[in-house]
Amino acid sequence: MRGHRPVLNGAVAMIDWAPKPVTVSHLREILDYFGKCPSCGYPARAAELIMIHSDGSVSATATGTCELPCGWSGPVAITTMTARM
Ligand SMILES: [Zn+2]
Repeated sequence: MRGHRPVLNGAVAMIDWAPKPVTVSHLREILDYFGKCPSCGYPARAAELIMIHSDGSVSATATGTCELPCGWSGPVAITTMTARM
């Protein structure tokens, strides 16, 4: 039976990053984020983009943005004060 695509060289076979339709997405500000801008060292703010896909799966991506207009923004690991000892 035919019907599914062949694997491309096997190289990315294990990575599921085929774009799935996003049905709901919203941005949630991470209020207890205390990371710093890696570019200028000023405290950055972070927000989490939560996407709910049409198949019911949920993915979240945290993005940091510098509070100063140095222009930096990028993916961040969510580190909060609650994780401290
Ligand atoms: Zn900055």
